Amino acid sequence: MRGLEIRRLTIEADNRPILKDISLTFEDQVIYGLVGHNGSGKSTLVNTIMGSPDYQITSGQILLDGQDITRLPSYQRARLGLFLASQYPVEITGLNYGDFLKASLNNLHQPVENFVDVATRLNKVAKELGFASFDLSRDLNVGFSGGEKKKSEILQMIAFKPRFAFLDEPDSGLDKISLKKLINILSKLDYPTTLVVISHHESVINQLKPLKIYRLGEEHEPSW
Ligand code: ADP
Ligand code: MG
Repeated sequence: MRGLEIRRLTIEADNRPILKDISLTFEDQVIYGLVGHNGSGKSTLVNTIMGSPDYQITSGQILLDGQDITRLPSYQRARLGLFLASQYPVEITGLNYGDFLKASLNNLHQPVENFVDVATRLNKVAKELGFASFDLSRDLNVGFSGGEKKKSEILQMIAFKPRFAFLDEPDSGLDKISLKKLINILSKLDYPTTLVVISHHESVINQLKPLKIYRLGEEHEPSW
């Protein structure tokens, strides 16, 4: 099958099972929602798909176009077009944002001939996202507000043009106007991609017109 298949995956962290026997499929150029209560394993799943060493796969497989990528290192998964916009983006002091983008694009085999073009494209989207000032000469995410760090992940996605982009709560920390701008940008991406959007707000996911919403874990309604 073409696309990404999560086949009967069981995932542990610190010897504790987190997700059991999970099966999901992601086809090309489709928008998906991924929902579930706090701690249901949404971030665990997408970090595991990216190859995070924090999680151990004890059974099951991750297949991309039928090829087993379960044990592939993260940088190779990125080359195959997988991308994660993290729930908690980190500041990295000493890593220049522009250098980070150039090195990442090189890893993705999209060497930059003219970085000015990349910077211009990102600056345009940064403006659309409402960044007060976006400066690629600064260190990665350093000094950004919480919302700006989330927007920064989206800018990286725009730079890398991944085939499958997992967005882990891209709406968290965004004000109403920024959220509207984000939805607008995600709705009109100018390259073919699959978006898997994790959010606690299904209204946000629904604005992106998902083909399917996957649900993890039991939904517990409050008894009061
Ligand atoms: P969600 O994103 O759906 O809120 P998470 O995937 O972050 O849920 O967490 C699922 C469960 O796994 C939680 O109980 C969390 O404490 C646990 N967990 C997540 N990451 C780790 C880790 N690196 N080590 C140990 N436990 C973890
Ligand atoms: Mg999470």
